[in-house]
Amino acid sequence: MSDNKKKRFKKIKGNNLWITIIAFVLIAVVFENLFVFTVKSFSLYIVESRFISEYDIVNVMTNMYDNNSDDADKAYKMLDEGNRDYIVCDKSGKILHSKGENTCSDEGALIRTSQSKEEIQVYKDSERGYVYPEDDKLALDFLSFRDWISEDVVDESSITMEAHEMDDDIESGISFVQDSELISLPIWIAVDLDGGEKVLKVKALLNSNAGDIILLVEIVGIMAIIVVAILIYMLVKAIMSFVRQRRLIRLFYTDPVTGGSNWMWYLYKGERTLRKRSSAGKSFALIDLTFVNYRNFCVCHSVSEGEELLKRVYNLIISDMNKKEICAHISSANFAILIGFDNEEELKYRINNMFRRLEKTDEHHKLCFQAGITYVVPVINSKGKAVRRKYINIEEEYNKACTASATLTDSMESQFAFFDDRLIEEQKWMDIVHENQERALANEEFVVYYQPKYDPVTNELKGAEALIRWVSPIFGFVSPGKFIPLFEKNGFITEIDHYMITHVARDQKMWLDKGMKCVPVSVNVSRAHFIESELAEQIRDMVDAEGIPHDLIEIELTESAFFDDKNAMIETINRLKGYGFSVSMDDFGSGYSSLNSLKDMPLDVLKLDAEFFRGKNEDNRGEIIVSEAIRLARSLNMRTVAEGVEIKEQVDFLASEGCDMIQGFYFAKPMPKEEFEGRMKS
Ligand code: C2E
Ligand code: MG
Ligand code: MG
Repeated sequence: MSDNKKKRFKKIKGNNLWITIIAFVLIAVVFENLFVFTVKSFSLYIVESRFISEYDIVNVMTNMYDNNSDDADKAYKMLDEGNRDYIVCDKSGKILHSKGENTCSDEGALIRTSQSKEEIQVYKDSERGYVYPEDDKLALDFLSFRDWISEDVVDESSITMEAHEMDDDIESGISFVQDSELISLPIWIAVDLDGGEKVLKVKALLNSNAGDIILLVEIVGIMAIIVVAILIYMLVKAIMSFVRQRRLIRLFYTDPVTGGSNWMWYLYKGERTLRKRSSAGKSFALIDLTFVNYRNFCVCHSVSEGEELLKRVYNLIISDMNKKEICAHISSANFAILIGFDNEEELKYRINNMFRRLEKTDEHHKLCFQAGITYVVPVINSKGKAVRRKYINIEEEYNKACTASATLTDSMESQFAFFDDRLIEEQKWMDIVHENQERALANEEFVVYYQPKYDPVTNELKGAEALIRWVSPIFGFVSPGKFIPLFEKNGFITEIDHYMITHVARDQKMWLDKGMKCVPVSVNVSRAHFIESELAEQIRDMVDAEGIPHDLIEIELTESAFFDDKNAMIETINRLKGYGFSVSMDDFGSGYSSLNSLKDMPLDVLKLDAEFFRGKNEDNRGEIIVSEAIRLARSLNMRTVAEGVEIKEQVDFLASEGCDMIQGFYFAKPMPKEEFEGRMKS
């Protein structure tokens, strides 16, 4: 597929899906982080405010001790009445007194809370160290969050009690609540006693009550709802955009007439199929199928009926295909097909079979199809393995199928043609000729050569045929076989015929003016030209413009031309004869309806085709036909010219049979006018 088409396809296809998925993931990550951050910040806020309360309690305990510092036992007794576990140790760390289980770990640090600027020494609880100091701040171990909840959640009755009890405790500074809290997170707070002689480490319980939890749950819930709503919205959007994109792609590849595949699909899917590794060992045929009489059908019926028929044709084609094969309707009457095959015979059989089925698509009309075919076969490497056709370009390959199509003739019978590398050369030459024809004509690059016609008995010069040559400054000397058929196809032959008649008449005029005895010169007039209604008058005017007698010009018609409109042809011949021109039938015997043509056409000259004088003539059959043809012509008052005579025996034979003239290499090849002038003089 060309880069341009790929770009167009990408534009339609877009990267919406990937962009949406990436955006979706990014937003989900952002929301997730935001969510975690909020929950963490809120939890830490609660933990920190509880910590401050606990620190106040520790301060109360410190005061109680200080007030009784002269009687340590009494002080400990008072502290024991509270429900906080604690230890008192000396400077060396030796425990002097403790209450409850000592779970204070060595892991600790100085922290600062946002509400109090002073530094507080804390230690992690060795059993349930969910709260720990980190970078002089309190941190929470969220990984153990689930354990934390399950371990600490208590029954509802304790939750209802908790709020006022907590307040009371703090106010009194003596009694502490633990069981009524929903979540209790321990951390040890250390303060100096006795001016730094001792250290009091109190197990602070950072409790969260139901209010905190409900608030947290509410925040989490609301955030979760918002996040989920946004994510659902985005998901729905992404799905919708995905569905829309799929629809767009389908539309991009769908042919509006048949509802099947279109050219873009053929290029995309076809190229993928050809390039696939699994296809390396397989042969594929690319077919340019034309529904020949589609236009006629539309003219006789209607475009919509025509399109309905195309749809049926398309369905018939795909009904005979397997999944990997492709058929696409690419323009009004054309289908592009890609099918696999094993050998050429099988392929031909399949195409003929397809033709037979398609011809019967409409029961009231016989439809006609043409197919140009090219195929790609496995590429085998030096190890004998089929290699992947990685770089094959389906457009280029399909173009070959179209080139093969262009060689097919106008016919109402279905037919196909295979691509051949020579066709490319021919096509290129055709284009070159087409591009250069006008300029060549204007520059008079076309030159008239004359091939003399001689009397076989007297060897006297009796006439000549004017034959065109293209003497091109670019391509050199080009013989008519290389360009006349192309001019006949592209219509330029009419200009050439006019050019030749004018130039021959001009040369004749020049020779007459020189006082020479001129002979009639025959000019080939193409079949395409001959059915023009005014042809006889055009020729007359051209000859008159040069001012020569009409009997010096003879008009040659090829036998195949007689298949066209017979009445128009008879009419033109009669008018030409009426103006005094001779008319001859060229290449008599090369076609298959010559005798029939002779019956109706009032011709003057019969030119026996060169083929009569080619090849072996073991039992004289050729000679019999030639002598009978000469006799027939004489009976019909026609003169005979034998073309392509190369040897003396043929000349002697033709002389004995009464052939009027001989045009062949035996006497002379076609020659430039100067040389012919010399022959006329001699
Ligand atoms: P044609 O009109 O039948 O011309 C006779 C062809 O036979 C000429 O080929 C001539 O050179 C060739 N020929 C004559 N004698 C012999 C022979 O003894 N041996 C062999 N091997 N060939 C011989 P040429 O000139 O190549 O022309 C080919 C065809 O091109 C002509 O066949 C004619 O159909 C067409 N053509 C040539 N000039 C013109 C023209 O000015 N207008 C049109 N419409 N067609 C032309
Ligand atoms: Mg001729
Ligand atoms: Mg001829």
